Amino acid sequence: MKSSVQSLIKELEIICPQNFSVNVSMADISSWRVGGCAAVLVNPSSLQQLIDVTVMLSAKKVPYLVIGNTTNLLFTDENIDAVIIQVGSSLSECRIEGEVIIAQAGLWVPKLARKAMQASLTGVEHICGIPGTLGGLIAMNGGSQRKSIGSAVSSVITVSECGTLNIYANADCKFSYRSSIFQRTNEIIVQVELILRKVDDKHRVRREMRNILQRRNEKFPRKLPSCGSVFVSNPSMYAAYGPPGKVIETYGMKGLGKGGAQVSNTHANFIVNNGGASAADILYLINFLRESVYNKTGYLMDVEAKYVNADGLVSNI
Ligand SMILES: Cc1cc2nc3c(=O)[nH]c(=O)nc-3n(C[C@H](O)[C@H](O)[C@H](O)COP(=O)(O)OP(=O)(O)OC[C@H]3O[C@@H](n4cnc5c(N)ncnc54)[C@H](O)[C@@H]3O)c2cc1C
Repeated sequence: MKSSVQSLIKELEIICPQNFSVNVSMADISSWRVGGCAAVLVNPSSLQQLIDVTVMLSAKKVPYLVIGNTTNLLFTDENIDAVIIQVGSSLSECRIEGEVIIAQAGLWVPKLARKAMQASLTGVEHICGIPGTLGGLIAMNGGSQRKSIGSAVSSVITVSECGTLNIYANADCKFSYRSSIFQRTNEIIVQVELILRKVDDKHRVRREMRNILQRRNEKFPRKLPSCGSVFVSNPSMYAAYGPPGKVIETYGMKGLGKGGAQVSNTHANFIVNNGGASAADILYLINFLRESVYNKTGYLMDVEAKYVNADGLVSNI
């Protein structure tokens, strides 16, 4: 792609003149505060812009990846030779019709939870503290309290590589624990329809959210950059040994450091950036924890965060 950046810039100046930047340091903007420079970052300000950018990139065979708020992504320390399309607050319209919420993918998840509560709707209290976009939440099938957003989804609209809009019914989304079909396609989620349930007393929904936020504030490190829980809980390991954080703590690895990265002293399933951590530091700790827990318990823990390599490809860690 390197040779075509100049011609790409010319195209972007026509399609979305105010909404792209070149040479963007992912260490400055990503949730973990690590990563090299992305060749180009585009923030489409409308659905049409997003479609036009996607069609142009596909026609030119330029690799691209989509991000939300990067709260589940570890970016390589190398420079990223791809276009990053960020779906954010410019695509965050939301309307409520009875028990149905129709929202764009850039909507901030805690805001979605608040809107549901204000409309006396129950069913998404568990997402009120997740610091990402609705698109990222759907792609990850995120949630908390042993729940996942997938169970509230009625349909998802995406933009394909050739710019067409595709509609996925719930069953087509192939939701499973912290996974969905959108991790295996290059389609961009642009709109989501959720079906919730009306309650008489919205204060009950509010109280439930308050309790969840309070528990999260007590349990999780809040001030240092991270990507939330590193390892996914495995039900069988949970039954035998407990959740990943407890297991890591039991085997004395809480607080362990490598470069600027550290297994959080607050919650051992978080790796925090104490300042100047590299992706290599974080990967070292992840591999060390995974191998140590495997040697002690026989369980190989899966990593929830995804890795972005120098070609802009997203993969499991
Ligand atoms: C402090 C903290 C607490 C957390 N707590 C939780 C928790 O309780 N539960 C939980 O599940 N997660 C949690 N997370 C992880 C993370 O917030 C969620 O996975 C979140 O849903 C990711 O959203 P995002 O917008 O940041 O997505 P990103 O990290 O930007 O992207 C994640 C994945 O989704 C894809 N993606 C993003 N947007 C789109 C789109 N529009 N179309 C198609 N694909 C897209 C990306 O390509 C990538 O593969 C936490 C993270 C932090 C930092």
